[in-house]
Amino acid sequence: MKQRKPGCYIAAVLLAGLMLGGCGNPNAKANTAESVSASDSETVSESEEIVSAEAETENGFETETETETEIEAETDPIVIVLDPGHDSEYCTRNHPDLGVNEQDLNLTIALACRDRLQQYQGVDVYMTREDGSCPDAEHQGEYCIEKRTGYATDLGADLFVSLHNNGTTGVYGAEVNGTEVYVSNYSAYTEEGKKLGQMVLDNLAQLDLNPRGVFVRTKEEKGHYDDGSVQDWYYLISYSVEGGHPGMIIEHAYMDNPHDNAILKDEAQLKAMGTADADAIASYYNLQIKTKTEN
Ligand SMILES: [Zn+2]
Ligand SMILES: [Zn+2]
Repeated sequence: MKQRKPGCYIAAVLLAGLMLGGCGNPNAKANTAESVSASDSETVSESEEIVSAEAETENGFETETETETEIEAETDPIVIVLDPGHDSEYCTRNHPDLGVNEQDLNLTIALACRDRLQQYQGVDVYMTREDGSCPDAEHQGEYCIEKRTGYATDLGADLFVSLHNNGTTGVYGAEVNGTEVYVSNYSAYTEEGKKLGQMVLDNLAQLDLNPRGVFVRTKEEKGHYDDGSVQDWYYLISYSVEGGHPGMIIEHAYMDNPHDNAILKDEAQLKAMGTADADAIASYYNLQIKTKTEN
């Protein structure tokens, strides 16, 4: 039984098309993302209740001695794949004025996220890359999105989370700031995705990042999923759906906005973002911090 039913997905990347161009997705234009207001997230506690109820009834035995160990033994770990967006070989156009490279920011955040998640029990964490190189050595470039999501698919991931940073003009001084989370339009994933996305947004807001919203962005020209819903705009999300797992994109901050740029230049803040993401994910899946005795 899985307490995993994921909700979320990873979104993909491409930012808004803006200058950051993005991992090979030629469609990465930004415009209108349909806002999914945060008020959808009232039911967060529901999933927790379900999870704990299942855990209790699942181990059929009622003897006092078995209870604790059985619950743990029977729960498969949640598999989370973290995808630090872009890499040094492709995928990002970084304006020299900004003083930051998106692929490096994303990696620092993702590594902190991984480290924090590993402090929880019941979760296995994987990374699509742990350094600057492209995860797809053979193709690089635009194929690397497929490689990244395919990695999650091969692992039977419960959730694929792509971590990014944003931009509008690409020139230091831009007005727009804050965090955006993109989740899937696939019907089985949308509500749960919004729930998790809101939790991520709330945690990042504690770091003085403006919570812009949780969005679903679709592209009619890509066609429909098997459930009839319109495909997601981002390939990081639509490939995830096709791979059988949700995908989510977190655009942490705007590199070209002075307020956000200052935060992004502070490594402690970057790590705090990763920790915030991890704690949101852990909270969504109702994970508990490891006790000292369990490694
Ligand atoms: Zn690449
Ligand atoms: Zn990006």
